[in-house]
Amino acid sequence: MSINYNLACAVHRHSLATPDAIAVVYKDRSVSYREMAERAASLAECLTRRANWQRQDGTPPRVGILASRGIDACVALLGACWAGATYVPLSLKLPEERLLTLLSLCRLSAIIADQEGAKLLSRRVLGACPSLVIHAAHELDAPPDSQVELVDIESLPATEAGEPQPMEANDTAYIIFTSGTTGVPKGVMIPTRSIRHYLEVITPLLDLRASDRALEPCELSFDFSVHNMFSTWQAGASLHILPATVVMNAVKFARQSRLTVWNSVPSLVGMLRQVKALSPGILPDLRVTVFGGEQLPAGTVAAWQTTATNSAVYNLYGPTEVTVFCLGQAITRPIPLTPGRDFVAVGTPLPGSEAMVVSENGEVVADGATGELLVAGAQIAEGYLDAPDLTAARFPMLDGQRWYRTGDLAMRDDGGTFHCLGRIDNQVKVLGYRVELEEVDAHLRIVSHADVVGSVAWPSLDGMARGLVSFVGGQTIDSDQIIADLKARLPAYMVPSRLIALEHMPLNASGKVDRRALLQLLDQESP
Ligand code: AMP
Repeated sequence: MSINYNLACAVHRHSLATPDAIAVVYKDRSVSYREMAERAASLAECLTRRANWQRQDGTPPRVGILASRGIDACVALLGACWAGATYVPLSLKLPEERLLTLLSLCRLSAIIADQEGAKLLSRRVLGACPSLVIHAAHELDAPPDSQVELVDIESLPATEAGEPQPMEANDTAYIIFTSGTTGVPKGVMIPTRSIRHYLEVITPLLDLRASDRALEPCELSFDFSVHNMFSTWQAGASLHILPATVVMNAVKFARQSRLTVWNSVPSLVGMLRQVKALSPGILPDLRVTVFGGEQLPAGTVAAWQTTATNSAVYNLYGPTEVTVFCLGQAITRPIPLTPGRDFVAVGTPLPGSEAMVVSENGEVVADGATGELLVAGAQIAEGYLDAPDLTAARFPMLDGQRWYRTGDLAMRDDGGTFHCLGRIDNQVKVLGYRVELEEVDAHLRIVSHADVVGSVAWPSLDGMARGLVSFVGGQTIDSDQIIADLKARLPAYMVPSRLIALEHMPLNASGKVDRRALLQLLDQESP
């Protein structure tokens, strides 16, 4: 019998074996595996009975998920999977222009919108939508000549959940968009076989159990959410979604919900530390903590170890292009640090993944030497949507094996542990969000009409960037107007909090804007 690689299979399995077990909890609502499966299957039925619901050139139909984190988002995403589709999260933080750009890039067959998502479906957006929009209750105003069929999600009849539609190993499970250096976001395509492999590795490695209650603090457009949702459902456990309004009370939330699994970027704990939300022994039920997605400061781990005294703590590393996390380690005492830095080492490749550090000319460097980190193996993406040149450049074939060039500067020590030492390019993490500074610059150039611009991540606290500052060549600038124009084009975390006009922009030896000098200017101004 051939394997069904559909991501919804685990939920289906648990809906039969433990139908009353809780799959998701959000605010005062909880949904059992049975209800989850029925609601997802009912959505899937609405999608698949459409005349034009079919694979195109061998690829599954794509469904956009325009939803904030919550139960409806989980149902929407599982419904898309159940129907055999590729799901494409569309962040609610996007301004209209960027949403339109994404819609034009990803050629969707349908969109499922929750209540918050439906608010973004303006006439203009609906004009660019696929022919089916399934949405939560909200008055929608489609353009008069529009072909879009609007279906109220509440009108869908309850359905008994049959098997999710068969999906093959090479079918794309999801496409997640990340910042792209040219000013246009790039869509990372992850095949079902990669995420299936990841779940089969990570669930036993973290020892996740059906009795677990796991934290979900991420939006669907960040691939950490893939780990949170699907590893929890793989184990038959329950996912507790952190409402956006209580993020700064995440510790209280975890305590009250008696969470046993904590998943987050280190920045979240960094912020909680700042507001003094951590106190010794306050989270005794936690037994697993997953930190990932950005550098993990030693101070964060030390503070967490006194907060969640019974928890194992993992540092997991991975780019979206290698299916969430591909290297990692359980943190022991003393904390395994990267030499000369206050960050935790990223550990070793997960089973099925491989890593190497190479020099500029592509040769593997000796242990202890620095170079670019390349990863390969079962979790590697198909590439970028409709970008064969970029895909070829970032996913080279070396000695008959396909690798992903991470752009991370790294070192492998003589014990075989990998250490991240920063970036070789201008990608930064701002409060956990991945941002290509060139993308900010590309938009800044357009709205400021200046040729020479440069953005930097600043300020940084504990090694974590808290925001962006941009410099524009010239004597004077209309900062308010430029920021307003950027807000109309970019998600908020990519908009600089400050603009500075510089008559003489510092340039490096190759004539490019010298970002290091810009950082120095800011540091001198306020050390
Ligand atoms: P993303 O695709 O948003 O997950 O971002 C991937 C990038 O985040 C990596 O290439 C690294 O630069 C950084 N990153 C992710 N996890 C870690 C980690 N545990 N330690 C250090 N850097 C990390």
